[in-house]
Amino acid sequence: MTPDYSNNAAEHARRSAVIAGGVNSNVRLAGMPVPLTFTRADGSRLWDVDGNEYVDYAGGMGPMLLGHNHPVVNDAVVRAVARGQLFAGQTTLEAEFGELLTTAIPWVDSIRVGLTGTEMDLLAVRIARATTGRSKVIRFVGHYHGWLDPLFVNPAAAVPAGGQPPLTPGQSVAAAADVIMCEWNDVAALDAALGGGDVACVLMEPIMCNTGLIAPADGYLQAARELCTRSGALLIIDEVITGFRFGLTGAQGTYGVHGDLTVYAKAIASGFPLAVLGASADVLAAVGRGEVNHSGTYNAAVSSLAAGVATLRHLVDTNPYPDLERVSGLLADGINQVGQRRGVDLVADYVGGSMIQTRFGEHRPMRSRADFAANSDRDRLSRLVQLLQDRGVRPTSRGLWFVSTAHSDADVAETVGRLDEALGAL
Ligand code: PMP
Repeated sequence: MTPDYSNNAAEHARRSAVIAGGVNSNVRLAGMPVPLTFTRADGSRLWDVDGNEYVDYAGGMGPMLLGHNHPVVNDAVVRAVARGQLFAGQTTLEAEFGELLTTAIPWVDSIRVGLTGTEMDLLAVRIARATTGRSKVIRFVGHYHGWLDPLFVNPAAAVPAGGQPPLTPGQSVAAAADVIMCEWNDVAALDAALGGGDVACVLMEPIMCNTGLIAPADGYLQAARELCTRSGALLIIDEVITGFRFGLTGAQGTYGVHGDLTVYAKAIASGFPLAVLGASADVLAAVGRGEVNHSGTYNAAVSSLAAGVATLRHLVDTNPYPDLERVSGLLADGINQVGQRRGVDLVADYVGGSMIQTRFGEHRPMRSRADFAANSDRDRLSRLVQLLQDRGVRPTSRGLWFVSTAHSDADVAETVGRLDEALGAL
């Protein structure tokens, strides 16, 4: 029951003649049988150029928290851009957005906005270096903080002895020399890495979302917070994925620990390019004085800010979180039950919020990247993702599922039924 992908193949060939690899983000190279070409999306659904319909859990890789084409966001953007798009100056949307965000998140009272999570992570590191006068950055194996030097590491390569980041061709070895790679969820490893007294910041995802879906061990975030404070390093929490998916205050609110700097992106603006660096006013003061540089032609463009204001206001006004967690839990339970009924070791890891990681392995919470690697048969997972796509269900290529407020109980029931068929064909 392979659907027709012939128009997708033709579009991919056409694109590949003029676009390297036929995609504009290397993550999308993984598309099977070719990277797909979509024509339309609405709510929980997505359609491709062959007319195939999908229940979409890729969610634009996370931003589509309210589902596709949300009318409140679309209306706000259309109304705003009718008055112009980019002014090389400020708009009233900026204060409105900043007021909404700082009201929602108690530990953020000052922000800067940009376009991508990548650049806000780099700005956070720059501020940490300026604040501490130190240069080293501790980051963690299996976490992701964007594609640029020096924070990108080759996820396929082992970390060499001495904690030097494994790089991909063309990356700056000099820039990477300031990065210390560390195992996450390991207090002793972090303590040792901080020992040199030359660390400007510790940068982490509060829940590991870029290698499986792994919760922090009990007390780990608290310990990391204390170690940073004691050593004078700033703690940067990257909530690019978790932000606004675990209630308004994200994973930091859930675990009761917060960083000196927080990065938000993705779910904050429903698919429009907007990323935020948030902190206390004193941490951002040097940026505000013009001493630490942060610039960008498109920063705070009208469309992005209108989308951000509308998304945030909608989340504050409607509090979709109890229902979103209920639907996410329903889907995770459904996946686990189907696996058990079929007698296969399919697991849905769910740690709250609105993401689920599927894998083949032992049925227990994952603790580390190594634990995940030993408990996730990647080949079988890829095959399952393909079989699901053939049956109209689209998680991300690595088996992470983003649930949105547009997903209904009926969507979940349909998804679980299709999964049952897919497992039958595996
Ligand atoms: N941080 C995390 C935790 C991410 O998952 C990502 C993207 N998946 C980024 C940063 C980079 O964000 P962007 O793609 O917007 O540059």
